[in-house]
This record gives sequence, structure tokens and C-alpha cells, in this order.
Amino acid sequence: MAAQFFTSRFGGQSEAPFAQNNLALHVGDRRQAVLANRRLLQDEFGPVCFMNQSHSNLVCVVEGIVEQEPQCDALVTQSPGIYLAVLTADCVPLLMWDDESTCVAAVHVGRRGLQNGIALRTVAVMRALGAGNIFATLGPSICGPCYEVGSDIYQEVVSIFPKATAVTAQGTLALDLPAALIGQLDSVNIQSARSRECTVENETYYSYRRDGITGRAAGLIRL
Ligand SMILES: [Zn+2]
Repeated sequence: MAAQFFTSRFGGQSEAPFAQNNLALHVGDRRQAVLANRRLLQDEFGPVCFMNQSHSNLVCVVEGIVEQEPQCDALVTQSPGIYLAVLTADCVPLLMWDDESTCVAAVHVGRRGLQNGIALRTVAVMRALGAGNIFATLGPSICGPCYEVGSDIYQEVVSIFPKATAVTAQGTLALDLPAALIGQLDSVNIQSARSRECTVENETYYSYRRDGITGRAAGLIRL
């Protein structure tokens, strides 16, 4: 099985409201602090490839670390020893690998990513590269009851992804993104395991919904 892990908000040099281990350059944190946090990660685990995420359905296959971060929401590599990183604060960090060690993938799946099929596109790329049976891990993300949405968005999503149906503690409409994503992966025969940690409820993690201005944690995987 490919090496994989998820970072928490602890252990880095960022200060409030990004404290402590923010790995994202685009959220308003001091650049020097983010670069120091990334350096700590790379000193311990080796080269890490980040991406410039925008809730797109773009998949990039990378062979090494490039100076300019790829503009995409999914990274795939066949190169051993390079960690692929997906940055999140409530969205689902999705990591995938295959039983023949052909390739690995790190995918950013928010509501828009669920709807635009970024995970399915990534699976197609992995299979085109010769992947065997693919497995998936869904890291810490916002849970169903914490993801309250308006009725328009609710209808738009659950009409296509019935498994996204959720309600808040107050009984209002909500979306279970990880449940919907597991259903989507299931439809292309991919077994997945889901973290039960909710980023909103657990202050170990960054949460955009809870804090607004905040940092991003990483899900990382390598061959
Ligand atoms: Zn929750």
C-alpha cells in the first residue's frame, strides 16, 4: 500500500488565524511562514508536489517537482518517492492508489468537485496509466450535519447524488459530501474508507466553515 497521511493544524510556524501548520500560500498567511512549514514537511518526508486548486475538474500527471505549481484539482504520478499533496479546510482530501503500484493520486473534492466529476476523471487517468484495482481514502472533512446549505443547492446536489442527503442538528437541509463521494467511487468499483473526523467539530483541523479566514491542511500520498 502506498504511503499516505494527513496533516493537522499543529506543529508549524504560522500565527493566528492561520496557526500553526498552514500549508497554503493563497489564504493570506505570511509567505515565509508557509514556506517554512512546507520545508519542515519536506525535510521529514521528502519532495512534495503541491497544486494550485480552483474547484476545477483538471487532472495533472506529474513526473517530478516543478517550480510552477500545476493548475489543477487532482495530481497523479507514477514516480516513486514524490508526495502528492491536496490542501483542504472542510473539502474532502481524496487519496487513491492501486494494488499494482502503478500510480497514486491526490484529489480535491468539494461540492463543485463532486458535481464536476473530478474523482471520476482522476480514476480514468489512473486506469489509462494501467492501474490495477484502485482503493481510496477520504481524509478529514466537513460532515453531513455540519454542512448546512440553502434549498437550491440542496436540490441540485441530492437530485443527482441521493447519498448526499443530510440534516443539521436543527433539522435544516445539509449535504454529506463524503457519503456522496463514496457512492460516486462505488459506481466505478472503487473501495473506499472514510475518516470519521469532522473538520468543523474537531479543532485539530482547519475549517473554513467554522473560522472563515484560516489555513489549509494537507493529504499526502506517494508510491
Ligand atoms: Zn461535523
